[in-house]
Amino acid sequence: MRLKDNNLFKQQCFVGGKWVSAADGAVITVTNPADDSVVGAVPKLGRKEIAEAVDAAEKAWAPWKSLRPLQRSEILRRWHSLIAENIDDLAMIMTMEQGKPLAEARGEIMLGMSYITWYAEEGRRVYGETIPSPWAGKQPMTIRQPIGVTAAITPWNFPMSMIARKASPALAAGCPMIIKPASMTPFSALAMAELAARAGVPAGILSVVTGDAAVIGEELCANAKVRKLTFTGSTEVGKKLMAGCASTVKKLSMELGGNAPMIVCADADIKQAVAGTMGCKFRNAGQTCICVNRLIVHENVHDQFVAGLVEQAKAIVTGNGLEAGVTQGPMITSSAFAAMQTLVDDAVAKGAKIALGGKADPKGGRLYLPTVLTDVTPEMRVFREEIFGPIAPVIRFKTEKEALELANDTEYGLASYVYTRDLGSFYRIAEALDYGMVGVNEVALAAGEVPFGGVKFSGLGREGGRQGIEDYMETKYILLGGLAS
Ligand code: NAP
Repeated sequence: MRLKDNNLFKQQCFVGGKWVSAADGAVITVTNPADDSVVGAVPKLGRKEIAEAVDAAEKAWAPWKSLRPLQRSEILRRWHSLIAENIDDLAMIMTMEQGKPLAEARGEIMLGMSYITWYAEEGRRVYGETIPSPWAGKQPMTIRQPIGVTAAITPWNFPMSMIARKASPALAAGCPMIIKPASMTPFSALAMAELAARAGVPAGILSVVTGDAAVIGEELCANAKVRKLTFTGSTEVGKKLMAGCASTVKKLSMELGGNAPMIVCADADIKQAVAGTMGCKFRNAGQTCICVNRLIVHENVHDQFVAGLVEQAKAIVTGNGLEAGVTQGPMITSSAFAAMQTLVDDAVAKGAKIALGGKADPKGGRLYLPTVLTDVTPEMRVFREEIFGPIAPVIRFKTEKEALELANDTEYGLASYVYTRDLGSFYRIAEALDYGMVGVNEVALAAGEVPFGGVKFSGLGREGGRQGIEDYMETKYILLGGLAS
């Protein structure tokens, strides 16, 4: 890996301000999804070592929470500047471990940075309130305080921004955080820890641990010193973690899976709808939680929409994300890659037609061709399951009621989209979609300023916006008595 600063590529964990290996020397090897070459190895820490990381965080908590919010803000802003200065190296590390094209990696890092600047400022605005008193001579009020040691478990599809989105509100609120990144993409997280230390984040306030997910998860859930767990990943693992945290009554945030619909109305600007689909279906090779999973298109514009989508999807250049001009990288694992064909075969067996792709890319590796399926129905797996790959299933509808029934026919409720130029249908549909987020004629939903999150099996809580810091704070009620003269 050719980096400008080789010190950003860390093959050790960062615990209590020190770079450490596993006591028994065990490691996890990390490979590049583009060619399976070895990128490096990270420690496989044991449960005792995770408990030690929690102890270090608890020890570091008191001085961190007693800093003025402005002092924490200055440190976060320095972290932001160091990330900006090192963006080329961070993008290279991300593409090597995750496979997304370099331009997308840079885009993700910039999104992550937007959370850090936002929370550097938002941490200065955690106001309490004075409450109009129901009693003579007494004044109720509230203050907001950091919750304590927090832990984050993050996925491989956004190795940097998921960490920035969790760590920056935690640190701004005055909490330490222990991060367990995905085993396939640990190096972005470790580079972030190195930059945080350079920015002046004190020892123990931001630790990154790697190892067996179940072992680390069990300790973080069962350890009563951890007061909040934030998780981004699959619904299946999210449910396990919720159950695991019951015994220690932790506060939880869960950013889980999605099955996003996009309703394209008869009056939609079809060019815009196609561009939106390209932006959110094929980004990250379709391995995105808010990526459109079902295109629900009015029968009058169906053929025009499919023709436009096929034309644009044909122009996608697949390949190694490090190569110039590549716009779609490989699938993360061979099982994720194999799952694409199984989903396409299931849909075709049940009556779907392949308008584009539908098979592995002849270039080889884990590249799957951008795929468009038509005549999709709710009986097919592509309708029911989170595809997590470059397959765009199209379903035809006649009435708005039918479109909404199709869109809401899922246990998930993360992102949804509608394309229309009619003010009435925009508002009716946005209100009726049973999702945490609705993009109207727009698909780029995330930014530091806005609350990101889902309903139903897509999770709990919101990240980003003024809401995102709430989960790292407790509200304390104080009653001042004896005020009567
Ligand atoms: P995953 O398998 O649930 O893994 C996510 C994280 O959980 C990884 O760090 C993984 O560690 C860890 N993990 C796995 N089993 C665990 C256990 N028993 N206890 C504790 N931790 C455990 O999900 P993924 O495949 O990486 O990510 C894709 C999923 O994330 C999709 O469903 C996607 O929709 C969702 N996602 C949601 C959002 C959102 O904001 N709602 C954003 C991005 C992704 P290892 O890597 O070591 O196995």
